[in-house]
Amino acid sequence: MRVLLVEDDPMIGEAVQGALKDASYATDWVKNGQTALDTLAYQNYDIILLDLGLPGKDGVEVLKVIRAKDNPVPLLIITARDGLDDRIRGLDGGADDYVLKPFEMTELLARMRAVLRRKGGIATSLLTNGIVSLDPATREATANTGEPMQLSNREFALLQALLVRPGAILSRSDLEDRIYGWGQEVESNAVDFLIHSLRKKLGSEVIKNVRGAGWMVSKNG
Ligand code: CA
Repeated sequence: MRVLLVEDDPMIGEAVQGALKDASYATDWVKNGQTALDTLAYQNYDIILLDLGLPGKDGVEVLKVIRAKDNPVPLLIITARDGLDDRIRGLDGGADDYVLKPFEMTELLARMRAVLRRKGGIATSLLTNGIVSLDPATREATANTGEPMQLSNREFALLQALLVRPGAILSRSDLEDRIYGWGQEVESNAVDFLIHSLRKKLGSEVIKNVRGAGWMVSKNG
């Protein structure tokens, strides 16, 4: 999953970026509202983390522009504990939830999962297509035929991208988008390598190759 982090505080930004990376999210970090909007014009994200107190265009203004464009991207606001009015304006403006500074990374990650679940219409935290299931909280994948397998960050990110939309074909660059954030060097054969290791862990039928187009997981078991 790819995350846009909009945060001007360097310490918070670095801490959040590190925690997101550890949790297998591809993260792009921008430090003001205008850059966030410019970025959203060409890059799709699975979720946005938006600080409200930003230089220039503040977070609520950024949020309004995003929602005015009918962009339904899941969005969590990050706000100071005393900023009740801002928080209310944010929720009224179309934010899906908020976290209060200072926050524990585990809480942020749990709220992100909850928002993704709600917005994705997925009833449980488990992603599954009936053949393989993936638990975003533990990063364990289980194929019908086998034991739960612990996935690496990138294996997790790749399988999650496929399992969010069973039946959809994702190209190499779609998958790279979900695995790497800005500034992370994309190794040329990384996707092949990850598919290979996932098939080794979960069985070769779990991920299907669609010649010339990309990869997919089946829609129904
Ligand atoms: Ca701020």
